[in-house]
Amino acid sequence: MSLTSLPNSEDLKGQKIIISGGGIGGASGALALAQRGAEVTLYERAPEFKEVGAGLQIGPHGVKMLEKWGLKERVFAAGYLPKEMQFRDAITTETILTMDFGEEFKEHYGAPYLVIHRSDLLAILVEAAQEAGATLVNGIHVHDAVKDDEGVTVEIEHREGEDNSGKGKREFVRADLLVAFDGTHSAFRKKIAQDEPVPSAYVAYRGTSPLAEDEAMKDLNAVVGYIGPRCHFIQYPLRGGELLNQVAVFQSPRYLDSLVSGDEVPEDWGNNEEFKNAFDHTNEFIQSRLGRMWLNTWWQMADREPLQDWVVNDRIIVMGDAAHPPLQYLASGAVMAMEDSECLALYASQAAAQGELNWGEVLRDVSAERAPRCARIQTTGRFWGELWHVDGISRLIRNETFRAAEGTGWFKYADWLWDYDADRREYLKDPSKGDLPAELQEWEYNIHKISRQRDSKETDELTV
Ligand SMILES: Cc1cc2nc3c(=O)[nH]c(=O)nc-3n(C[C@H](O)[C@H](O)[C@H](O)COP(=O)(O)OP(=O)(O)OC[C@H]3O[C@@H](n4cnc5c(N)ncnc54)[C@H](O)[C@@H]3O)c2cc1C
Repeated sequence: MSLTSLPNSEDLKGQKIIISGGGIGGASGALALAQRGAEVTLYERAPEFKEVGAGLQIGPHGVKMLEKWGLKERVFAAGYLPKEMQFRDAITTETILTMDFGEEFKEHYGAPYLVIHRSDLLAILVEAAQEAGATLVNGIHVHDAVKDDEGVTVEIEHREGEDNSGKGKREFVRADLLVAFDGTHSAFRKKIAQDEPVPSAYVAYRGTSPLAEDEAMKDLNAVVGYIGPRCHFIQYPLRGGELLNQVAVFQSPRYLDSLVSGDEVPEDWGNNEEFKNAFDHTNEFIQSRLGRMWLNTWWQMADREPLQDWVVNDRIIVMGDAAHPPLQYLASGAVMAMEDSECLALYASQAAAQGELNWGEVLRDVSAERAPRCARIQTTGRFWGELWHVDGISRLIRNETFRAAEGTGWFKYADWLWDYDADRREYLKDPSKGDLPAELQEWEYNIHKISRQRDSKETDELTV
């Protein structure tokens, strides 16, 4: 079946699907499955559907999902289509790579590059899922689920109190399938992996401000990333150019000290005290922009080790950040969750259309297609971030490499990420596509290296 004949089929009619979690992943899942005729109920524990933070970059791999779900007009009206992405050196501000998002890009990847406010995207997905017939309920905590031969019994709790934190009535609900889109601290991931988040030592400050009255920035029409030693700074417009989105990210010396010494990590690593001096070595322009960042909250960046199999059992699967929380450098966490949703809905509806819907088989195929791809995005994200933050001679070589990529054409580096269609089943056919390219397989993530050297007491070699 071709993707173009979708959405809005009745292939999954009669299938009851429960989704735990109403972030961008859960809302996308509700939409994609409801558009195939499934009877979807989504439970979100928070009292309202809400995203914290500001801008999201959605590459063409994500825009293609939104277009398939019929949301092109809505997301383009709410967001902003940048002309290009510029990488600049954070010390000199010189541009070292410009990625043009014009006609050739759109033709090559089949969609444009979009930036959009998180809350706007979530609101559009929630509304579209409801229009497609899904039921989305706030204030419900999904505790557990047990499968049997006929389906799955899901234990939910109706939270009480204005902030939904109080204990409430418990209930058991039946379904054919439970999809856990319950974020990086997922209750269901624990059933298949006993791992913990891996902090990266980097922390993000964010901020939005009106663009029109910002003399220095009012003509901004691109995503601009200043990359520098142990830090980076991103700017792009939001809401049709009404708002400026800024993200300032730096390595926390206090986190690193604790990691190296093995002492307890301070809970507030990356706090305002550290932020104050974190960009002193960067260009004055960047320093002049930092006054617009929000100071009351900061995001300690962490991911998890890639998971090879997302299937809890024949009736339960983890998806989105529950399965593959990434570092943010490839701007693909939310996009992966959208791809997961489309892949599940597509494979299930294809199986149903052939009269062969067996949820266990569908889930195993979805996991075999998606897990290697997301593993590669997670690992490459670590590498890409470290490349942004190098110092000294490595920084000069990095800059030359970026300039060369612009000269010789950079599509070849981005195709694996942005030219993707689950319908091609390319990772199912060849799981090794999920590995880092051969040249990078010896590469070691700095956080792993520091822990290894600390634990083996190779302190003479300890490099941060
Ligand atoms: C600084 C930063 C920048 C980023 N930039 C980008 C970007 O540019 N592009 C991009 O694609 N991605 C980006 N990401 C990543 C992206 O934000 C996430 O990967 C994505 O939002 C994950 O969505 P999710 O729905 O899987 O999880 P979440 O957003 O974590 O949603 C999980 C939901 O489940 C609910 N929940 C949890 N447990 C339960 C339970 N037991 N019962 C009921 N509900 C429950 C939670 O309340 C929450 O609403 C960025 C991330 C960060 C931190």
